Amino acid sequence: MEFKRFIDALCMISAQNKSSQVPVLIGALAMTYPAETYAPRGGMKGLFSSWLDHFVALGGNWKPQQRVTALNQSINDWEIGINNELNRESYEHVVSNMTGWSLSQLLGERSTLPTQAWSAFTIYAGVKCTQPIQELYHLVLPEKSLGVPDYFCSFSHPEDSTRAPAGWQTLTLSIHTTEGEWDLEGEAYDQKKEYFKNLIWRHFRETFPQITEQKFLTAGTPRTFYHYTLRPGGRVGGLPHRWSYPLWLWPSQFKRVGLSQLGDTVFPGQGLVATITGAMQWWRRVKAKRF
Ligand SMILES: Cc1cc2nc3c(=O)[nH]c(=O)nc-3n(C[C@H](O)[C@H](O)[C@H](O)COP(=O)(O)OP(=O)(O)OC[C@H]3O[C@@H](n4cnc5c(N)ncnc54)[C@H](O)[C@@H]3O)c2cc1C
Repeated sequence: MEFKRFIDALCMISAQNKSSQVPVLIGALAMTYPAETYAPRGGMKGLFSSWLDHFVALGGNWKPQQRVTALNQSINDWEIGINNELNRESYEHVVSNMTGWSLSQLLGERSTLPTQAWSAFTIYAGVKCTQPIQELYHLVLPEKSLGVPDYFCSFSHPEDSTRAPAGWQTLTLSIHTTEGEWDLEGEAYDQKKEYFKNLIWRHFRETFPQITEQKFLTAGTPRTFYHYTLRPGGRVGGLPHRWSYPLWLWPSQFKRVGLSQLGDTVFPGQGLVATITGAMQWWRRVKAKRF
């Protein structure tokens, strides 16, 4: 039973689903976790900054804080509304990186994407240890009777001074959750968030007794993720792999003439693997004019 729980937890990280639902090849990939898993210098922010520098060096124009609020197709091109105002420029080809749910909403069409997808409850902190923690990834499966959910810990590299000063490491704990579990108002929401944060944090501190100090303890819920990423329901893990949603049902990357789509709701699997592999496929087809 405990072994199956462990296999399920590994599959949840890599494929966003329990082992009984995961196709065998993806399951095999999940079993290798955390092999070939890297901790980029500067974390996700570091990775993003280096991609952004490269994008700008190639002539790309980054416009932060601009929300696409309309996407209208005219005869030969596309017009984009930004922050509720229609942009005067028009574009021959638009590539969207928002989720498939958001894109359908913008186009005013019914989405055929499943909405069963995970969000996360996350806890962030800075921690100081007696000895730096060198194993950066940990899957913790608490004893069932404690009522603490399984959680995943990710520490920054002890030598990565861009993420924490010497002697300290930044830490993210994440737990799979759904938007429905956080559909609460006012005090009920705040209390639940505080309760879960303390429940999991207490267990974490007992599990890692080498941690002597903590700073900046804070938590995030699906609502937080919606706020920062605009992903409907705060669904942050991509679409789960499952038998009942085989590859041929996944949406095309090429939605309409002059409109294509990237990201973890269009290419199978969560995270960087899905977004990068999807983008490479897209680029090959664009180069070969096969769309
Ligand atoms: C706690 C946690 C840990 C994770 N850990 C990992 C990990 O270790 N490895 C891994 O590979 N993956 C991990 N993931 C998953 C990974 O973050 C996502 O799968 C990935 O970010 C998806 O990339 P994307 O480009 O498809 O979408 P997004 O990252 O959601 O990017 C889409 C962008 O579009 C913007 N946007 C949306 N709507 C609009 C609009 N209307 N106008 C303008 N901009 C808009 C959003 O603000 C966002 O910046 C993790 C996720 C979580 C929550």
